[in-house]
Amino acid sequence: MSRPKIAVSSCLLGHEVRFDGGHKNSRYVSDVLSEYFDFVPLCPEVAIGLGVPRPTIRLVETSPNMIDAVSNADTSLIYSDQLRRYGKKTAPQLAHVSGYIFKKDSPSCGLSRVKVYRGAQKMPERVGVGLYAEEIIKAMPNLPVEEEGRLQDSRLRENFLERVFLYARWQAFRDEGYSSRGLVAFHTAQKFAVLSHDEPIYRELGRIVAKAGEGDLEENCEAYLKLLMEGMEVLTTPKKHANVLMHIMGFFKESLSSDDKAELLRLIDAHREGLVPVIVPITLINYFRKKYPNEYIDGQTYLEPHPPELMLRNML
Ligand code: SF4
Repeated sequence: MSRPKIAVSSCLLGHEVRFDGGHKNSRYVSDVLSEYFDFVPLCPEVAIGLGVPRPTIRLVETSPNMIDAVSNADTSLIYSDQLRRYGKKTAPQLAHVSGYIFKKDSPSCGLSRVKVYRGAQKMPERVGVGLYAEEIIKAMPNLPVEEEGRLQDSRLRENFLERVFLYARWQAFRDEGYSSRGLVAFHTAQKFAVLSHDEPIYRELGRIVAKAGEGDLEENCEAYLKLLMEGMEVLTTPKKHANVLMHIMGFFKESLSSDDKAELLRLIDAHREGLVPVIVPITLINYFRKKYPNEYIDGQTYLEPHPPELMLRNML
């Protein structure tokens, strides 16, 4: 798999494209993630010709059920159509990206809780979605998306980046050409990862894969991807990780001494109780994997869903 690409709101990469000529550089994105991803920077407000510097815009309820991006300097200037059109035009050009990091709170780029003004006297409510971002997520519902502010939360950060790497693997599979065998192999590698997020979806995915050869293969693969991405967005918990780790331990039970088993069980329980991060029992399992190779377990993306150097599981 080649280095995944992530689309990013340009201002988060230090580009001076904000209304005041400044930026909102995210050090995590530009210093840490840049080691693992290629970025596609996009600023919709500059792209539609608003220039730098420029008057600010905000989301306003201009009529019932109609939210518009309105200039603060001149309320007769409305940029909704341009932003939406640019989103629609850009989405097909992002087929090669595996994720998108948006700038929070922006009337163009924010994914949720953007301020919406209703009438001159009222306080804004945080119920809006940036108009450009809304078009991107409508056109690309399976693409992993996140706001930079939420990446400060270790659980949300790990979840987003796990989905980005997964989506990149899916894109590689798709680019080779869908096949029933390929889908079975893809799903087999993904089993414990999905189980650690959502067990009912894990079971439903198994049913889709079993029938993948019946009917339209492309439709079945797309249905699988939709459900897979939905399942992977559900956050893991120590209890769910412990359940998966117990399953994995079952594959080694004939090889492990009683002391080894006891130690692994102790670490799995310690993680379930919140005493150690999940990386602790996984590190011991990875040691056993080297000692007692098992093709099925070695193929599971669960054990290394993203580069260990990102240390995403050290806080879970
Ligand atoms: S939030 Fe979006 S529109 Fe605003 S400066 Fe950043 S990239 Fe441009």
